[in-house]
Amino acid sequence: MIYLDNAATTKMYEGAVDVYKKYACQSFFNPSAGYNKAIAVSKDLDKVRQQILNKLGANGNIIFTSGATESNNLAIYGNKRNGKWEYVFSEGEHPSVYNIAQDLQNQGFVVHIVKLMPNGQVDYDQLEKVVNEKTRIISVMHVSNETGAINDIPKIDHIRQKHCPKALLHVDGVQAFCKLDYNIWDANVDLYTISSHKFHGPKGVGALYVKNISPLKNIVFGGGQEGGYRSGTENVGGIMAMGYAIEHFKTKENYLYVSKLKDIMKSELEKDEKIKVFDVGSPYILSVSFTGVNGETLMRALQDEDIFVGIGSACSTKKAGNRVLESMGLSLNEIKSHIRLSFSEDLDEKQMHYAGEKIVEVYNKILEKVK
Ligand code: PMP
Repeated sequence: MIYLDNAATTKMYEGAVDVYKKYACQSFFNPSAGYNKAIAVSKDLDKVRQQILNKLGANGNIIFTSGATESNNLAIYGNKRNGKWEYVFSEGEHPSVYNIAQDLQNQGFVVHIVKLMPNGQVDYDQLEKVVNEKTRIISVMHVSNETGAINDIPKIDHIRQKHCPKALLHVDGVQAFCKLDYNIWDANVDLYTISSHKFHGPKGVGALYVKNISPLKNIVFGGGQEGGYRSGTENVGGIMAMGYAIEHFKTKENYLYVSKLKDIMKSELEKDEKIKVFDVGSPYILSVSFTGVNGETLMRALQDEDIFVGIGSACSTKKAGNRVLESMGLSLNEIKSHIRLSFSEDLDEKQMHYAGEKIVEVYNKILEKVK
């Protein structure tokens, strides 16, 4: 199998599974209990909080959640205020942010959706025009899950400092955390979302970084875990396994390694000039249009060759169109014929040559048939 859909999810590190098992079967105590074994578990969770802060290069608070969808909801609804506040998002956001924007709009708030530039980044000029002293939150993703475009977070912070210094800056860092060597402290990020299954940890666990906890309100009510900001017994095994993944993910080495894989794939695909590769940022994601062939048809044909590719984010495959690519100005034909290739350390160069050649071959076979 050649798995080229690592932006949808990654294979768990075997060692992370072992850690999960340890906290499921041996150190299985509830971290909120008062006896020493439970307190030890609670301290282990705190070590993972510190690991995340170290990786982010930041000081502040870490709230464990069930994943990025929940972190994004907590970041925005937990900081939402009634009154004449305005909210700013980008057209490129994942549905776990974009659908919040729509909900806020339905609730009667002023919501600005900033479009994307052809390179997939947010349109900074438009952003600068829509923010003002009433802006409560600016929520912009770090790396696009569709295209790999990397938004310039310091630039967005600069716009915020200039026009609305009191606004909070939330960044969905799901496709960036561990993968980019990045320090969020320098960019004054207030809230940052991460999800464990994108960097070889388990699914159903993630975290929200919160720089200043005082304005945050809980959106889930219950027993008061996670400082009251996220009630519910922590997913201890999942959190500890996420910690293992953070420790073992070699950010710099992986970046270089994956860049090489991406370059091989790109050069194989570009041998056929009908194929249009959008190489716009993160080496972990390549967005490709296969002129004349439906992306879904190609994806299905490739699965018969044991090659697995994505057609847009897993969460949006059931919906027609693609608002992210549309906002970048891709034509309908380019969008229809689009697939996403996303890489990980599990792949090697030989597989890239093989998969690249195979994709071109399968594409041309389909093209022959539809002619
Ligand atoms: N944000 C982005 C940018 C993502 O790529 C994803 C996963 N596709 C999510 C949020 C949602 O993450 P989770 O599966 O952890 O809820």
